[in-house]
Amino acid sequence: MKTEKILAASGTNLLTRRSFAKPILVQKYGGSSVATADLIKNVARRVVARHREGKAVVVVVSAMGKTTDSLIKLSKEITQHPQRREMDMLLHAGEIISTALVAMAIAELGIPSVSFTGQQAGMRTDSSHTEARILGVDGVRILEELGSGKIVVIAGFQGITADLQITTLGRGGSDTSAVAIAVGIGADECEILTDVDGVYTADPRIVEKPLKMSWCSYDEMLELAILGAKVLHSRSVEIARRFDVPVLVATSYRDAPGTVICSPEKARKEFRVMEEVSVRGIAHQKNVAKISLVDVPDQPGVAAKVFSTIGKQDINIHLIVQAEHRGGKNDISFLVGGDKLPLVRQILGDLVQLVSGARAVVDENVATVSLVGEGVQREPGIAARMFTTLANAGINIDLISTSNLMLTCVIPEDRAEDGVRALHQEFFEKSSTGD
Ligand code: ADP
Ligand code: ASP
Ligand code: MG
Repeated sequence: MKTEKILAASGTNLLTRRSFAKPILVQKYGGSSVATADLIKNVARRVVARHREGKAVVVVVSAMGKTTDSLIKLSKEITQHPQRREMDMLLHAGEIISTALVAMAIAELGIPSVSFTGQQAGMRTDSSHTEARILGVDGVRILEELGSGKIVVIAGFQGITADLQITTLGRGGSDTSAVAIAVGIGADECEILTDVDGVYTADPRIVEKPLKMSWCSYDEMLELAILGAKVLHSRSVEIARRFDVPVLVATSYRDAPGTVICSPEKARKEFRVMEEVSVRGIAHQKNVAKISLVDVPDQPGVAAKVFSTIGKQDINIHLIVQAEHRGGKNDISFLVGGDKLPLVRQILGDLVQLVSGARAVVDENVATVSLVGEGVQREPGIAARMFTTLANAGINIDLISTSNLMLTCVIPEDRAEDGVRALHQEFFEKSSTGD
């Protein structure tokens, strides 16, 4: 890892890292890996084993099991419109609990340890409550504790603004905390430990015979994560790519080789990759809603007006398709995350007024299935195979979107799993294309 570049970027005192002799390992354990006291003891044993190998170990942890879901449910029993600041106060507590328990379990095994909140760990963020972005990691305190021989346990998913407001990074954000911390302290290795032993060609909970990837490029993993493969938070992959920090995804349940997320150059060298595989994986996303503005006047500037209004509300658009029809009218359809639908509904009237004459139709019963890989657009036959496979499974395609790394179809939500299974059979089970 290019330590100087990273430390300059993160603002950490260069001398502190330089004077640190041991290799630094950052490990992140997800909710399922710390769901019970026994699992927490398992994490402690694994961490201590790495410490005994001579490494300085930083552990980033998620909240236990489904704690975050339970806290959200609890808030909904109080209000449907919680203040985002208060949601952060509530949700960050989940990670604090597991952090303290993991630190205690490590101490029980005879190794000194210390737990840190995001704030104590120097995780600085902007002030977008519930979806904060990381501005930097002031890693000096972490390095000091590592230097004194301790294992440092840090609460993932959270940070602090310049005016000391607690923030969280969005669902699944502990992965991003871990990679950012690895960059911030100039770690030598970064591992994400979870309930699956690597990244597969599709979600192993849906597909019976998924193939494990020994490696996956940053770009392909980013696309898979954005399109719904929740094994990694997409922003963690963005940071890994930006700083070229290889990330190992593996299971916390046993010792098994995982998947390395890295540059294609590294993969070519280490995994002797001879030829690229056209389709690397299949992702799907269910919690989405489709908004169609129908009969929009076909005039310059109309789309600009619509999407700048949406942009002002901080609503991420997953996909946009414009369909032309005769008579100077268009339909504009776009997808948003299900959690953003209430916000979109609030401005729907304004949008319709903006594009005079249009009407808006909302469909919550949609999902996306996507093929991801360097070859999906390069090889025209792949699109035809995707559409034929979905048709043969009796799945109607509502919208299609492509980029140089993905082919996405919007389909009915209740057929999402069937779509993933059919596509997996077509692209991965007929001939072995995994690695
Ligand atoms: P953690 O709690 O450790 O952060 P997550 O539940 O966020 O774990 O992510 C792991 C889950 O991601 C797996 O249980 C699996 O169902 C899901 N997943 C989705 N797509 C994939 C994929 N392509 N490869 C591996 N796991 C995947
Ligand atoms: N606990 C948070 C969540 O469930 C963050 C994480 O697990 O990464 O979304
Ligand atoms: Mg996760």
